[in-house]
Amino acid sequence: MIISCKCGIQFEVNKSEIPKEGRNVQCGICNATWFQKPYDKIDKKSSENVSPHYIANFFLFFIVLISFAGIMETFKEDLLYNFSELDVYYKFIDTLAEKIFVELRSLFNTFGI
Ligand SMILES: [Zn+2]
Repeated sequence: MIISCKCGIQFEVNKSEIPKEGRNVQCGICNATWFQKPYDKIDKKSSENVSPHYIANFFLFFIVLISFAGIMETFKEDLLYNFSELDVYYKFIDTLAEKIFVELRSLFNTFGI
């Protein structure tokens, strides 16, 4: 298990070194002492939840991005009429869509579909 001192240093200790009822430990860096319980919920949570959160956030970002592109596509004519600078955005999206389409085609070809 990992225990942390208030000075920011973290120590990897063997679970058997901390009894069920806890014990006093001392930091080897700043000499601070504290009472350590065997199970540090915060440390366990932070180390286990990193990757699901990362995937969920990426998925959320992707959905927002797709929604944004969808809205932009829905109001394409109005937006282009009012903001001619958006022409750059639409050209970029068209090129991107074309690239994705080409990639998908070659992917399907490799699987013989
Ligand atoms: Zn310390």
